[in-house]
Amino acid sequence: MKPEGLKLINEEGLRVDGRKPDELRPVVMEVGVLKNADGSAYVQQGNTKVIAAVYGPREIHPKHLTLPDRAILRTRYHMVPYSTDERKSPAPTRREIELSKVIREALESVIFVELYPRTTIDVFIEVIQADAGTRTAGIMAASLALADAGIPMRDLVAAVAVGKVDGQLVLDINQLEDEYGEADMPIAMMPSLGKIVLLQLNGVLTEEEFKQALQLAKKGIMKLYEYEQQALRKKYVEIKPEEV
Ligand code: UDP
Repeated sequence: MKPEGLKLINEEGLRVDGRKPDELRPVVMEVGVLKNADGSAYVQQGNTKVIAAVYGPREIHPKHLTLPDRAILRTRYHMVPYSTDERKSPAPTRREIELSKVIREALESVIFVELYPRTTIDVFIEVIQADAGTRTAGIMAASLALADAGIPMRDLVAAVAVGKVDGQLVLDINQLEDEYGEADMPIAMMPSLGKIVLLQLNGVLTEEEFKQALQLAKKGIMKLYEYEQQALRKKYVEIKPEEV
């Protein structure tokens, strides 16, 4: 239940954190943040902070999971106990198991798994601070970490959640908007191919609102895609003074 008097959109049309309805939270992205992973990335969107680590392609244990014609993808989405307001149990919850599955399915359609038969690619997503949008930040961190590991993909994945709060569609919802809003729709895409790899909807939208929400998400996704490319360029094509 929304606390009485809580306004998610004020008289000026601004949101609880001062953003306009179509504004993303401040973004930080960095590639190659962990020295012991084959690929890694950090993504921050407002107060949501996520790290992803990728290992592989490598030999599978246990062996019976091996597939003769493609790599298997194993994905773990996990929230650390100190990531939420109330301490979260470190044991995997049903929600984390579900999110690990939907993120794996999204990434499976992006990676050229057929190039690496009889191997595994392991993706670990750790949410270190949660303020909604952790699955979308997690998918982006994973896609950057996969690129950092040199794993061929059809495209990067950029993702954002659109919400409906006080009857208004808003981009990139925070926890308060997620908790007290009317709808939450996370979307992940391969932006340059225009393909959706994940779409979930919690709550109710009319058909018209759904179409508008999709457009709003696409706008945000194109911006996030830019940030992703910048983060990769920063690690891989930045010209260092000593190279000039
Ligand atoms: N959340 C929490 N504890 C939990 C699960 C979720 O505090 O056990 C918060 C957290 O901030 C999370 C938000 O609720 O980001 C929204 O969760 P949701 O399941 O919608 O996933 P997300 O938006 O993070 O992808």
